[in-house]
Amino acid sequence: MDETLQRDLMALDKQYVVQTYKRLPVTLVRGEGTKVWDANDKEYLDFLGGIAVVSLGHCHPDVVAAIERQARTLMLTSNYFYTEPQTKLAQLLCEASGMDRAFFCNSGAEAVEGCVKLARKWGKEKREGAYEIIVAEGAFHGRTITAITAGGTEKYRAPFTPLVEGFVRVPFDDIDAIKQATSTKTVAVLIEPVQGEAGVIVPADEYLPALRRWCDEAGILMILDEVQSGMGRTGKMFAYQHYGIEPDVIAVAKGLGSGFPIGAFLTKEHCASLGFGEHGTTFGGGPLACEVGYTVTKYMLDHDIPAQAARSGEYMERKLQSLADRHEIVTEVRGKGLFLAIELDRPVSEEILAQCLEAGLIVNNVKPTALRMVPPLTVSEEEIDRAMEILDAVLAGLDSGPPK
Ligand SMILES: *Cc1c(COP(=O)(O)O)cnc(C)c1O
Repeated sequence: MDETLQRDLMALDKQYVVQTYKRLPVTLVRGEGTKVWDANDKEYLDFLGGIAVVSLGHCHPDVVAAIERQARTLMLTSNYFYTEPQTKLAQLLCEASGMDRAFFCNSGAEAVEGCVKLARKWGKEKREGAYEIIVAEGAFHGRTITAITAGGTEKYRAPFTPLVEGFVRVPFDDIDAIKQATSTKTVAVLIEPVQGEAGVIVPADEYLPALRRWCDEAGILMILDEVQSGMGRTGKMFAYQHYGIEPDVIAVAKGLGSGFPIGAFLTKEHCASLGFGEHGTTFGGGPLACEVGYTVTKYMLDHDIPAQAARSGEYMERKLQSLADRHEIVTEVRGKGLFLAIELDRPVSEEILAQCLEAGLIVNNVKPTALRMVPPLTVSEEEIDRAMEILDAVLAGLDSGPPK
């Protein structure tokens, strides 16, 4: 595509698309593995991966084959009927997570919404009408009204008041704050095991185990939003598996379809409160989405992709650490598995992103002072080396500037 065409697209987008997204000046046309190409056939290493979505890489052949096969066979039936893909994906996810039941939907926000409904119903039945859910500062749970209420970002909420009742906010990674906020009205704690949009914040090792103990003691539900941290991202299938505990309910989406939209919540039997007619979705659980979800999950289990993500994550973290050692501007490297970020001593993440993009690397300016990197879990060491070279050169160009 020539520049005129790129400009036309930008103008048409501006004219016809609701302007909620600040886009980068690039039109992507195809992808394979960790790489994507723009309309001028320029190649990029994709260390954003559709925001932690393209878990097996772009256009993974098994995923493409599953889509082709299932698209020819049966795409959607409504939930009035049994279909094999939904049932077998439910079983596989329960076996992989230690949960008992699955409900399928289409996105992360919808999965969280389902968790909230489950908790409210459970509170009515089992906890004398308790309905309050404790959530964290800095949290991100999606963009529906309930999800922005649960989320910690004021600018996502302010234009849309009145919000939903029944959410109580506490600082993240502070178990005492949760204990103090718990009352007879509390029904659940909803938390991300690693906060993604807050800039990849990993809590202390004791946090989730202590939260598990507290939820048991107080008789409330532990709900984990594994939408970004789940499906192998942190080096285990689900982030809580690092800590030898199990939550009561989890929300999953992003990596589950490796690019195909699908979400789910998984619940333990004791709090599987939703009965006939109490929740539903037209598209959720459809055979096409579930066949893809099954293919991705099965591939991850068969090839131990979470372990591969753990190894690649360690490798990349070491490389980032050596960048931090050499560039004063980098003040911290943090994350778990292939869920990584660097903190900067000045708000230049947008500039770094632009320069990386120019040099053929896609990263994410999750905060003005933080860069997030969430490549496909199948990323190779060579690709990590190349990405780190590009980042190294970009950081070198910024070293001379004074900290702000
Ligand atoms: C992305 C994300 C969501 C929202 O998912 P959508 O598919 O965009 O609705 C919810 N929770 C977490 C932790 C996320 O990272």
